[in-house]
Amino acid sequence: MTTASSPMDVSGTAKRKVLISGASISGPALAYWLHRSGCAVTVVEKAGALRAGGYPIDIRGTAIEVVRRMGILPRLRDAHIDSRRCTFLDAGGGEVVSVSPSAVAGGVEGQDLEVRRGDLAASLYALVRDDVEFLFGDSIDTLDESAHGVDVAFHSGQQRTFDLVVGADGMHSATRESLFGPEERFHRYLGYCFALFTLPNTFGLSREVVLWNTPGRAAALYAVGDSDELHAFLTFHRPEPPFDALRNPDAQRELVAKVFAGAGWEVPAMVDALRDADDLFFDTAGQIRMPHWSRGRVALVGDAAYAPSFLTGQGSSLALAGAYMLADSLATNRDHTAAFAAYERGVREFVTMNQALVDNGAATLFPTTARALEQRNARLRNLVTLPSAPARPAHSALTLPEIRL
Ligand SMILES: Cc1cc2nc3c(=O)[nH]c(=O)nc-3n(C[C@H](O)[C@H](O)[C@H](O)COP(=O)(O)OP(=O)(O)OC[C@H]3O[C@@H](n4cnc5c(N)ncnc54)[C@H](O)[C@@H]3O)c2cc1C
Repeated sequence: MTTASSPMDVSGTAKRKVLISGASISGPALAYWLHRSGCAVTVVEKAGALRAGGYPIDIRGTAIEVVRRMGILPRLRDAHIDSRRCTFLDAGGGEVVSVSPSAVAGGVEGQDLEVRRGDLAASLYALVRDDVEFLFGDSIDTLDESAHGVDVAFHSGQQRTFDLVVGADGMHSATRESLFGPEERFHRYLGYCFALFTLPNTFGLSREVVLWNTPGRAAALYAVGDSDELHAFLTFHRPEPPFDALRNPDAQRELVAKVFAGAGWEVPAMVDALRDADDLFFDTAGQIRMPHWSRGRVALVGDAAYAPSFLTGQGSSLALAGAYMLADSLATNRDHTAAFAAYERGVREFVTMNQALVDNGAATLFPTTARALEQRNARLRNLVTLPSAPARPAHSALTLPEIRL
């Protein structure tokens, strides 16, 4: 059942009204497919505008097919970063080895894509902005489910009713919290924290990644294209999450400075730049693991439901494939309970395989002991002599159905 004011589709059936919270990757991707299958879609995003954030993300395997079916593959190929090399350094800044970036990630050269997150978000948004209602600078305050739908009170004071609500609001999803309880219940901490920020490219780097390691600490400079800006990444091992620092940027800066005190190479300059950075993003590396991704008329997609962590490099790919599968399940099943169950059945194994990458070696880029670091370096040296590293089966472990439009 839908509310009396529901618009009709061409067959005279009331259009499903769906509210999506979050306009990054999974939100706009889901909006696209739901609109195409005849839903009336609203997206609410707490940021005042589409977030530009340019750090590089990968699109691989099954997710390549999703963006192909959306018609944005050529645009994303143009946006492909195409880094030339990834150079690993030792404690003193000496070169250990230099390899092709796709070899390190187990990607398929010439097929997989690496684009700025903001470029992917902008491509997705451009596809839907004329067909989907966007509410920027707003968020959901409360959700009340009744027999006829979900009554939503927005932070702005607006009150509306939707047939379904989907949380695409990321790892720290407020939708998940309001429905399923605190994040701690579902967060699997992976033992690392990271700080991400930009700094001027005074290092002469171009289309490359340089990664410095000592046991338990890593610092990377990422030159995307020939930009005069670099993405800096400082990550470190910490057995327990630093709860005190998570909501306090000053404490985050202090913690990073303490952990990296005495480090070699350009790390002191990076720590200095971090003090002045106005775009610091600090978080723990973790995964979201939930027994179910929906309750009643509300479902979760992307990082909100199954964040795999940056260590897998698969977050955006899971977000794109998950959005497609959720839309397909809703197009196939008019009953939302059956649709959400089909979505979980269709995606669960794919998610599990990709989340398991952290247990199968993805985290070994950041070893925590001297011995593990030596072993990693030996493996990287071997990559130089191999024609190419095998693609990871998990990336393509989902075959997409034809969506019923
Ligand atoms: C440092 C780093 C490196 C990464 N590297 C890779 C990589 O190499 N490859 C890869 O595939 N992935 C990578 N990822 C992960 C990738 O960015 C995410 O997996 C992907 O963006 C998930 O998309 P999403 O749309 O589900 O969530 P998000 O991108 O987190 O988007 C959530 C959206 O919801 C909005 N929002 C949050 N709360 C609310 C609210 N209450 N109301 C309304 N809106 C809200 C946010 O503003 C945001 O726009 C990386 C992530 C990080 C942090």
